[in-house]
Amino acid sequence: MVVNYPVGVYEGRILSSIGKHVKTIQNFSSGLENHLQNRHNPPMDFRQRQLHNCITRPDDPRLESLKIPVSISGNDPLLHRYPMKITEHVLALMKTDTAVRRQFLPHADENLVLTGQSPDPLDENRYSPVPGLIHKYAGRVLLKVTHRCAAHCRFCFRKRFHNGSETPDHEDFPIGAWLSYTASRRNIREVILSGGDPLMLHNDQIRRILTVFAKIPHVDIIRIHSRILTTWPSRITTTLVRILQKSAPLWFVTHFNTAGELTPKADEGLEKLAMAGIPVLNQGVFLSGVNDEYEGFKTLCTELVRRRVRPYYMHLLDPAPGTAHFNVPAERAVELIRCFRRDVQGYAIPALVREIPGRPSKTPVVSSESQENHLHPK
Ligand code: SF4
Repeated sequence: MVVNYPVGVYEGRILSSIGKHVKTIQNFSSGLENHLQNRHNPPMDFRQRQLHNCITRPDDPRLESLKIPVSISGNDPLLHRYPMKITEHVLALMKTDTAVRRQFLPHADENLVLTGQSPDPLDENRYSPVPGLIHKYAGRVLLKVTHRCAAHCRFCFRKRFHNGSETPDHEDFPIGAWLSYTASRRNIREVILSGGDPLMLHNDQIRRILTVFAKIPHVDIIRIHSRILTTWPSRITTTLVRILQKSAPLWFVTHFNTAGELTPKADEGLEKLAMAGIPVLNQGVFLSGVNDEYEGFKTLCTELVRRRVRPYYMHLLDPAPGTAHFNVPAERAVELIRCFRRDVQGYAIPALVREIPGRPSKTPVVSSESQENHLHPK
């Protein structure tokens, strides 16, 4: 279903001042909507094939054959609320990497829901003037172009999307309304494609989205946030990179939480992006039992830099339901960053931030100078 976004008097004036250009974009976008909404005769596409091979049940024999223990049964209601989805690539990592297991295997601890946890912990729906578009920070909009991910991270603050109840399919999203909203606000300089994982879209869909938003004169930068290099790195094909490269200036933001996720396949993808001249940043989340130990965190950041990826942000966990077992206290995260600062070059040090609904930007997490001399790595 297409939602018609009502264009008000103010927006109408701006739209007419942008004039023909916007009309061209809108015409192009309605073609895009048709394309995205054409669900007749769908072939078995690459996403379906990818899902076909995914592990979606705790009693999948592939887990057993690798001797990977799971703490819930196949009938646990948790799996209806937050379905399990693990790619074969992630499964191979799980064989030896307990930090990867912890991020992707459903766990009985997820049944513990605390006061203050919310399905929409960042209050994104409040900042969504058009369905799927978040305009929270001045100067940029974020588009949730799909709710699909290659694999489901158990700590995700948008895990409410995983069971498909909120929005069943990305084809229902109003691309034209996103475009009108962005084109009519000259202060929007950057468009972020997020999700889900935007690289779950087809190449053709990605190309069309990038093309129409790049035509808006005041949009300087397009940014893509994707965890695909951890979950399904072979998705970064030469063809896809060419599409991204044509939309310059485009920035690519990866989501690696541990050095173990920097596999040879991920390296291949990063190399393709680097050779195409696409700047790559990483943002991760501090997670208990995953990356809250000093040497592991240091290895992640230094290995990213070796691969020409700038560690950009480390986030504190957002309070989504059933994620308390992942929480790293702010003091511990501050301690890790501070000790790290003493050991490595500045550009390897990510900023420690948390998102607080209602704030005009991410909030830096710092502690008082008086603590500095008392904190040491574990
Ligand atoms: S890939 Fe990103 S959006 Fe998808 S489950 Fe993981 S953290 Fe969430």
